[in-house]
Amino acid sequence: INYRKASFFTSAPDIRKLPPDTGYEVAFAGRSNAGKSSSLNTLTQQTGLARTSKTPGRTQLINVFNLEEENRRLIDLPGYGFAKVPLAMKLKWQKSLSEYLEKRECLRGLVVLMDIRHPMKDLDQDLIYWAVEVGLPVLVLLTKADKFKSGKQKAELLKIREASLAFQGDVTVELFSSLKKQGIPQLSRKLDEWLNA
Ligand code: GDP
Repeated sequence: INYRKASFFTSAPDIRKLPPDTGYEVAFAGRSNAGKSSSLNTLTQQTGLARTSKTPGRTQLINVFNLEEENRRLIDLPGYGFAKVPLAMKLKWQKSLSEYLEKRECLRGLVVLMDIRHPMKDLDQDLIYWAVEVGLPVLVLLTKADKFKSGKQKAELLKIREASLAFQGDVTVELFSSLKKQGIPQLSRKLDEWLNA
């Protein structure tokens, strides 16, 4: 799949307003500031494709990007983990996210982005558990890998791979850096696998 051909399709205020549940889609999720927008822009080589609202507590939209191939989509889920978001809103978001993972038939895989310096926070783990529970494969991208020297990147990668075995599901872990254009083939390969299936 040529991800450079991705184009913005629509924004949805919540999971119920997404396009019809047909075809194939892959969702991108992560704590806010994990580097999710950057990874989408790097993958598609479009600097302005994905943008995030950095305002804590503001209603964030789900962005839908269409691929050139018929009925194939990338879904950019709102970032989570803002400290200042009211608890009720957090719980609502968690409920709708777990529902999406559980009920969305066209969802083929989940990419979870984590800053390599702060990986596997509680919500990241919850998300992976929900995905594994419903048999959804997960690709964990350790983003901003350029923040570490290559030796430390590899050590961190092995550590998180080892820890991910505990999920007992289809969980793959790779290094990623938008700055250094690192990890793009690994990401594209996984998306191809999921979207062509
Ligand atoms: P999002 O909130 O998850 O969408 O994160 P963004 O993509 O907006 O990135 C959050 C911050 O991390 C921004 O200041 C980016 O410039 C920075 N960032 C994103 N990717 C990288 C990367 O690969 N390397 C480095 N060093 N910084 C990055």
